[in-house]
Amino acid sequence: MATMTGVILPGNSTVEFKELPVPEPSGGQVLLRMRASSICGSDIRAIYREHLGTGPEAYQGVIAGHEPCGQVVKVGHGCKRFVEGDRVVVYHISGCGVCEDCKHGYMISCTGPQRAAYGWQRDGGHAAYLLAEENTLVGLPEGMTYVDGALCACGFGTAWEALTRMAVSGADRLLVTGLGPVGLAAAMLGRALGATTIIGTDIVPERLALAEKLDLVDHALPADDDALAKVKHLTAGAGCEASIDCSGAAGGRLLALQGTRQWGRCAFVGEGGTVEFDVSPVLIHQQITLYGSWVTSLKHLEDLLERMARWGLHPEITCTHRLPLAQAAEAYRLADEGQCGKVCIVFED
Ligand SMILES: [Zn+2]
Ligand SMILES: [Zn+2]
Repeated sequence: MATMTGVILPGNSTVEFKELPVPEPSGGQVLLRMRASSICGSDIRAIYREHLGTGPEAYQGVIAGHEPCGQVVKVGHGCKRFVEGDRVVVYHISGCGVCEDCKHGYMISCTGPQRAAYGWQRDGGHAAYLLAEENTLVGLPEGMTYVDGALCACGFGTAWEALTRMAVSGADRLLVTGLGPVGLAAAMLGRALGATTIIGTDIVPERLALAEKLDLVDHALPADDDALAKVKHLTAGAGCEASIDCSGAAGGRLLALQGTRQWGRCAFVGEGGTVEFDVSPVLIHQQITLYGSWVTSLKHLEDLLERMARWGLHPEITCTHRLPLAQAAEAYRLADEGQCGKVCIVFED
């Protein structure tokens, strides 16, 4: 029987390799040859360092990697759209397909017991092959690379969902708190949607420097005690019409809210932790609309990929490290350090 090496995350900041059989697709499934499988902040926060999650975030010892992109090499019976050779991005949650959220394409918030996320409850992308449900696939448009596709599967999809839910446009200036991979995605997409000024903040100097080097932000500010005053100064005292917290840190969330203009919109996508603020002056009296936004829908992932291709934008510019599967330990160490851009495991021919 053919076997492959998969990466397992035992939850003590190490990586394990396991030999497993190459799976066979059954009805409605396809076998993908993996081409790119990037590492998400959630992999670090909830799996790599320790297994924190419960419910949809419970890691069940499967092959890790929930940002998979690859090529169809085998099709199970009953597949309706994809054929051998197709380049595809995997929407990383397989839902029951019949609950209210699945019907809207938000398999991320599927409430059925069958819900299983790739890399969490079913095998993910850190192996040469991935068994995927056909209904979780989105075609990778021509002109986009496999690394582009992997980055859209979770991170760019998450940024896109929040920005479009806030209807970010050329009428807006955008504040991005936290310039990790999702923050860089928000900055790139905010600009593409027309936002005229992009202000980014982070506590890590390397991340500020990267955002500037990639020309994704107009202003990169250290997230220190002066940050709010600087945001206000850059916006003639008003604050930004839209803001998005990608830091997942209390300070970043508060800065996003306080840096939002009166009547503006603010979205939280950075996961974990808490936040505390004086509700009346910070939120109510400012007439701010606050969004919580979790990943994206199948359709919105497809929308994102189509537009990225049309705009000629490449998420992969935010990927600072590409490593082969055999160097997965180094890849996770780099991602955990939090001083670089996106880290992606890539598969050569
Ligand atoms: Zn993710
Ligand atoms: Zn469902």
